[in-house]
Amino acid sequence: MSQDTPTEPVAFDHQAFTARLPESPGVYIMKDAKGAIFYIGKSINLKSRVRSYFSGGDSRPFVKRLDKLLDSIDVILTATEAEALVLENTLIKAHQPRFNVMLRDDKSYLSLSIDPKGVWPRVEVMRSRPGKKPPSVRHFGPYHSSRALRQTLQLLNRHFMLRTCPDHVLNNRSRPCLQYQIKRCPAPCVFEVDRAQYDEHVHETILFLDGKTEELKLRLTDRMMEASEAMDFEVAARFRDQLRAIDTMMEPQQAEVAQDIDQDAFGQYREGDRLTIQALFVRGGRLEGTRVFSFKDHDVPEAEFYSSFLNLYYQGGNAIPHEVLLPIEIEDAEALADVLGGLRGGKVAVLTPQRGRKKELVDSAGRNAENTFKSQQVGGEQAADLLEKLQKRLKLSRWPERIECFDISNFQGAQVVASMVVFEGGQPSKKEYRHFKIKTVEGQDDFASMYEVLERRFKRALTGEWPSPDLVVIDGGKGQLGQAVTILSDLGIHGVDAISLAKSRVDPGSTGDAVTRSPERVFLPGRKNPIVLRQNSAELFLLQRLRDEAHRFAITFHRQQRRKATLRSALDDIPGVGPGKKKALLDHFGAVKKIRGASLDQLAAVDGISIALARRIFAFFNSEAALDP
Ligand code: SF4
Repeated sequence: MSQDTPTEPVAFDHQAFTARLPESPGVYIMKDAKGAIFYIGKSINLKSRVRSYFSGGDSRPFVKRLDKLLDSIDVILTATEAEALVLENTLIKAHQPRFNVMLRDDKSYLSLSIDPKGVWPRVEVMRSRPGKKPPSVRHFGPYHSSRALRQTLQLLNRHFMLRTCPDHVLNNRSRPCLQYQIKRCPAPCVFEVDRAQYDEHVHETILFLDGKTEELKLRLTDRMMEASEAMDFEVAARFRDQLRAIDTMMEPQQAEVAQDIDQDAFGQYREGDRLTIQALFVRGGRLEGTRVFSFKDHDVPEAEFYSSFLNLYYQGGNAIPHEVLLPIEIEDAEALADVLGGLRGGKVAVLTPQRGRKKELVDSAGRNAENTFKSQQVGGEQAADLLEKLQKRLKLSRWPERIECFDISNFQGAQVVASMVVFEGGQPSKKEYRHFKIKTVEGQDDFASMYEVLERRFKRALTGEWPSPDLVVIDGGKGQLGQAVTILSDLGIHGVDAISLAKSRVDPGSTGDAVTRSPERVFLPGRKNPIVLRQNSAELFLLQRLRDEAHRFAITFHRQQRRKATLRSALDDIPGVGPGKKKALLDHFGAVKKIRGASLDQLAAVDGISIALARRIFAFFNSEAALDP
């Protein structure tokens, strides 16, 4: 195992970086060359938001200086924009980036605050980022909606016995207000109020806002019992109502908010022998941060790897949470939990969640790991290394700059289609991907279909319409490779390497628990025995990725074709729509999809379609749930 190597800053190439960013919600963290965070932002679309910093339209002073300031950007993906907002706030609080303080747009901030050291503290609504406040002031939020904030405030004002009036009212009252009359405030504006008791209310308010509801409920229950034993039923009833209100308020949140515990969720992404692990740190139910670990030459079995990785990580002095959430089962989970529990001085669970919020956290960590991995790929040198290895290992006659992989897909022998995916410089070049509908082959004959596809593809190379590949990869064994070699020879094409990648097979004779599989094999022309590339090697991973991409692309196209055919034939099922009317409808609308979306008036406007028939067609498509894509 290589050393823990957190993200290394590299010279910042914003075009390459933004090209790899996903169009999903998350938080971006800008750092300078020393690794100091100078700005944190969130967006519903990370790609377009981060790209906008480099398009020249942002006049903020620090954006103008980005070329000098910016060394790297970390991103954390979130499931929703709301989650991004909360995370952004947490990170801003934790890191206090210098440009956020001065420049952030405060409109989205809606939070509550209380100063426990103030004069008769009260809960205040903050509509913007807090300005200069005494350090004792506690802030809670942001709230995603004013409704959520209003509900919280309403509950506090009804049940927590704090004043609601602003300071100038407090200082100038000669009589208590209605709050006192309805027993929601002890009226410190006028009366001598027991300071210790008021402080108790402040403390309980903070417990509630901190989400420490279990602790709060225990306290309130104790006090309710005391009041009841003292026959002070009015006070006991007040505590009872307070407890009920808290329960009602917390109910809808139980499903989505984790309990008030700390969790570290780990996710991973792997390509060949390179592995990225990303940890998400949840503190008190809130996502507070993340950390990335990258490993090269990784070939230790995953379960074994996690055991030693977690051991090293936590023994190294990192904070140990209540729960460690992992993407895979590890054998010594219990032993590890004991060790961590000993270090932490309390119970620790090491879990592999299968569903619910914990599973979502692990999945989110995995998505983040994948994103980090991809954003760390510097392309150039690594890709060159990989292609060189591939050329050597497979004894290719030329540098495999442009690789094309072909796959055939059919449905019960019918509607045969093929895909061609293209990798340039070791990376997918999606704009070059092509589909083919097989035209000359009857039924299911993969060899003949492959011949047709390659013939059509290479004729385009001969006419100069499409560039020639350096390497052709066929999904299959010796037979499929034979087709490729034949067509290249038939068309007189030289200098193109061809190989085939055969899937692993279950070894004959292996049964039950002892089932074993052969490794994947690469067939080369003129060579009897296939080459077996090292498991987890980057070269094998590249070929697998090509094959899987070709398969995915073929299947997607195939599904589209089938759906179109299903829709087209659906017209035949409508009573009264014969060949003539079907043609009239298709000529008018151009596609069945459009007929399906047409209004009654639009259908009736077609030549030869009566109102009654238009009604029938409309009813057919608008109640034909089975045809929904
Ligand atoms: S009773 Fe007095 S302290 Fe309480 S809210 Fe009214 S004015 Fe303020």
